[in-house]
Amino acid sequence: MSLALVDLDADPIPDYLEPVEAWRVWRVVMRERRVVLQSLFAGAVWEPGVPLVASCSAAHRSRWTPWRKKPSDHPAPELDCRCGIYGVKSVAAARSYLETPPLLCRDDRVIGRVALWGDVVEGPLGWRASYAYPVELFVPAPVVAGSGLRRRAYVDEILSALEAYRVPVDLVAPSALAVS
Ligand SMILES: [Zn+2]
Repeated sequence: MSLALVDLDADPIPDYLEPVEAWRVWRVVMRERRVVLQSLFAGAVWEPGVPLVASCSAAHRSRWTPWRKKPSDHPAPELDCRCGIYGVKSVAAARSYLETPPLLCRDDRVIGRVALWGDVVEGPLGWRASYAYPVELFVPAPVVAGSGLRRRAYVDEILSALEAYRVPVDLVAPSALAVS
C-alpha cells in the first residue's frame, strides 16, 4: 500500500498506534464553501478524513546570519519549543477555551475529544503532538434565551456538516459541560 495515497474510507487514526486521548476546542469556519474545524490559536484547518500534521511556526535567528529570521526546521513538537498540536487532559480545562480569547464577533466553537499521536510531549495541563484527529465532537446547544429559529437552524447545519469527519457528533447542553 502506498502511503502517499489517502484512502478516504480508511480510519484517519492508524490502528497500530495507541494514541493519547485529550480534549480541545475548535472554531467552526467556512472554507471553500465547506464547514471545517480550525485551531483557535494556530489557525490550522483540520481537513475531514486526514490527520492534522504539526509544523513549527516559530522563527529563529541564524547564528551566521542573525539579521535574517529563518523558519524553524525542526520536526514538531520539539521539547524546547511550543509547537505541536495541543490537547488538554480534562474537559474542564478545555471548556475555558469555549469563551477565551474573548469572542469579538460570532465565532462558533465546538468541544471534543482528540487523538494525539506521533511524538507526544507532555505538559502540566496536557500534551502537544505531531499528529491529531478528532475522536468525538460536541456542539454546544444554543442557550434558550435569545436563541431564535435562525440560530437553531445554524446549529443544525453545523451538526450535519461536521459528519464529514466521520466521528460521533452530538449536541450538548452547555450545563452538561459545567465543571462539577
Ligand atoms: Zn517548534
